Amino acid sequence: MRITVVGGGYVGLTTGACFAHLGHEVVVVEKIPQKVELLKKGRSPIYEPGLEEILQENLKEGRIHFTTSLKEGLEFSEVIFICVGTPQRPDGSADLSQVEEVARETAKLMTSYRLLVEKSTVPINTHKLIKKTVQRYLKDKSIPYDVASNPEFLREGSAIEDFLKPDRIVVGVESERARRIFEELYGDFDCPIIYTDPATSELIKHASNSFLAMKISFINMVADLCEKAGADVKLVAEGMGYDKRIGRAFLNAGVGYGGSCFPKDVKAFIRMAQDYGLDFGLLKEVERINQERPKKFVEKVKGILWSLKGKKLGVWGLSFKPNTDDIREAPSLKVVEILLKEGASLSLYDPKAMENFKLIFPEGGQVSYAKDIYSAVEDASALLILTEWEEFQGADLRKVKDLMELPIIVDGRNLFEPQELRAMGFEYYPVGR
Ligand code: NAD
Repeated sequence: MRITVVGGGYVGLTTGACFAHLGHEVVVVEKIPQKVELLKKGRSPIYEPGLEEILQENLKEGRIHFTTSLKEGLEFSEVIFICVGTPQRPDGSADLSQVEEVARETAKLMTSYRLLVEKSTVPINTHKLIKKTVQRYLKDKSIPYDVASNPEFLREGSAIEDFLKPDRIVVGVESERARRIFEELYGDFDCPIIYTDPATSELIKHASNSFLAMKISFINMVADLCEKAGADVKLVAEGMGYDKRIGRAFLNAGVGYGGSCFPKDVKAFIRMAQDYGLDFGLLKEVERINQERPKKFVEKVKGILWSLKGKKLGVWGLSFKPNTDDIREAPSLKVVEILLKEGASLSLYDPKAMENFKLIFPEGGQVSYAKDIYSAVEDASALLILTEWEEFQGADLRKVKDLMELPIIVDGRNLFEPQELRAMGFEYYPVGR
């Protein structure tokens, strides 16, 4: 099939690259020319494992093209995947201006049938607004079109695998014509495909993300209780997780969830419910617990070191999760901000996210960036761990200990076994254990 993807970010590039990988012909429309120039050379503007390789392979085979021209994209195919950003507005609602722009400009350029697919995460009934917009701006009102919802569930860091082998595919359609296109597109996928109306599909995405965020906040509160009561949250999660009704995933205690999705999607869901006259108090609490995590983490560090003023701290992990360079809403942002206010000097290290982090916390003064995990801990009064990168798990901890001023590790991601570290002579402070 021929497929057009609008928006060349984490979701758009993964969607485009994976459809090309499956043998389709794809055009990705991205409005930032510098990104398009990079992509045309086979370079990915973001770090996502395996993405650049797939892009290069399909560029060579001529199955994927990049352009800044929406017109070119629209002429190329009748299926348009909208993968633009839906960031958060100050009042918590989703900013849909990028989606509106694509719908409006598409309508102006359309000369025959097009299927507009919402892949971006959007509030319930956004499909109705898209339809209204298309109808308003269509030059020839008799041109047929459909608007469908096909939310994306990929996780950054394993986006390719998630896209190619999803747990399920959700499609919200209103016409047989649109449904047939999806049946052809997803025919070879070996997973349940749920066909619903678009509003239900839009809601499935929000309900899923908010539910996962709820699991994280839940286990974080349990972790606090474990710390106070002398229990082990890792074993609590294991004991709970074997129950099929609960499941082990997303029960990892830590410094809280971040990223471009959970914080904004939980907020948008609360706001959406409010717009329909409902108070989703449960989710407000999920959010409150999460917002407390970075503060609590720094309080813990302060409790251990007494004063942070003038102390040198090594920090491992800045991205909101491993295997990505994405720092949007990462807990590290808040932790670093508070640590700096407390007067600490930080030596930061992340395998992929340092360039993005430097844009917010430039090098100099209290902030320095280390070339590797070891130089980050040289002469440090403590090592703080904020992201569970595999590289950290494989660290030579004896070397780490020798390099540090004090052998103190405050681990916000429970990477190590407390007994092992304590046996090595570390003062080790995990979460909820
Ligand atoms: P992103 O910010 O990385 O990418 C969006 C891209 O769209 C940007 O490159 C931007 O320049 C481009 N763009 C904006 N307007 C455009 C236009 N008119 N024409 C062409 N390009 C345009 O965002 P993302 O992380 O890929 O997320 C996109 C959507 O998918 C959001 O709604 C998000 O909530 C949702 N989502 C994200 C993830 C994730 O893990 N990142 C997972 C599932 C769903």
